[in-house]
Amino acid sequence: MDILILGSGGREHAIAWKLKQSPKLKNLFIAPGNAGTATIGTNIPIGVNDFKEIKKTVLSNALDMVVVGPEDPLVNGIHDFFLNDPELKHIPVIGPQKAAATLEGSKEFAKEFLFRHNIPTAAYQSFTVDKLEEGYAFLDTLTPPYVLKADGLAAGKGVVILNNLQEAKEELKNMLVGSKFGDASSKVVIEEFLAGIELSVFVLTDGKGYKVLPTAKDYKRIGEGDTGLNTGGMGAISPVPFADKVFMDKIHERIVKPTVEGLKKDNLPYKGFIFIGLIKVGDDPYVIEYNVRMGDPETEVVIPRIKTDLVTIFQAVANQTLDAIDLELDDRTASTVMLVSGGYPGAYEKGKVISGYENFADSIVFHAGTDYKNGNVVTNGGRVMAITSYGNDFKEALQTSYQNIKKIHFDMMNFRKDIGFDL
Ligand code: ATP
Repeated sequence: MDILILGSGGREHAIAWKLKQSPKLKNLFIAPGNAGTATIGTNIPIGVNDFKEIKKTVLSNALDMVVVGPEDPLVNGIHDFFLNDPELKHIPVIGPQKAAATLEGSKEFAKEFLFRHNIPTAAYQSFTVDKLEEGYAFLDTLTPPYVLKADGLAAGKGVVILNNLQEAKEELKNMLVGSKFGDASSKVVIEEFLAGIELSVFVLTDGKGYKVLPTAKDYKRIGEGDTGLNTGGMGAISPVPFADKVFMDKIHERIVKPTVEGLKKDNLPYKGFIFIGLIKVGDDPYVIEYNVRMGDPETEVVIPRIKTDLVTIFQAVANQTLDAIDLELDDRTASTVMLVSGGYPGAYEKGKVISGYENFADSIVFHAGTDYKNGNVVTNGGRVMAITSYGNDFKEALQTSYQNIKKIHFDMMNFRKDIGFDL
């Protein structure tokens, strides 16, 4: 098999790392990739939304499959682009079609889906600019904190949670009238606040059957104790210690099954990963969000815990034979710690030389924002690399990551020292 992965983060490096272990893999291409993916495949310098160039690459290299990492090309319809092109339609794309990708592309669409299929989630209403007064009135009926969400994609920044009613009303106005998040906030979902601890469940479906992949918990804030600004993710752990069998059974029955069944009932073709963001309220799971791809850095702990050959799994997704696959998982815990550029998630400098990360016997280094410059590997983004380790529990796994991080250096390197602090 010759496979193209779209994306350039730690997620894509982790998928590439796993595919590379398959005896079925012949050639691996990553577009655009990073300095890590360049060591196990061929990077192609094209954008993930440049469908024309992607087509050229696929045809000129006679590729057999495309695996989509990030949400953007999915929401933009890359799967449909392949299906509708006579030269491409026989080539499987791992990732849902545009209609199903709307589960991530529109929060209102996701909420309607959840309610239609009786899947537990926070109560909500959505508002457009002509309904501003009604939005204010709805806020009056809620108790703080107030949760306001831009309907469209806003790079993980479109959710605002406020304690003060007046501020919530002002924020609603900023989003709707002031286009705070551009077109993404031309509609705003206001929802009931749910108090609890969050976790993520990952499902792989071929549109008929599905496999539940390992759970994970990520740490989004830049500061220790989950303080400060939101980031793409500063670390993750898999499995989630509090997701015991009883709780997982509830997730399975109340959320995973009705989600996959709902996709079928609504005629939303889906061959790919479903990321279900959950919150545990008391002893019960509620859905916070759907994403239509794997999470980053969750992939860096979920993929290393899958023992089954990933090419075989993806072939089964393409052929709709996933039910026949025996998914074997690693019982150990995997933890990852993200090294970031000083200043991130605000302004930061790029081009810092990275040293000391090679040849760890007991950690896997997944590159994110890295590149080559004058023979060196240098920083090329806010999140730079994820250091993943295994252990009998998350503390042991983290200890190994933190020990190895001591050997890594780049100017202004920053990372959270308290991943797992709340477990
Ligand atoms: P991401 O950062 O995962 O891309 P997003 O922008 O798609 O997020 P959500 O996941 O819907 O948006 O919300 C972001 C965060 O806001 C959640 O991880 C959760 O911490 C918080 N949140 C969202 N909805 C609620 C809610 N109803 N009650 C409490 N907290 C919530």
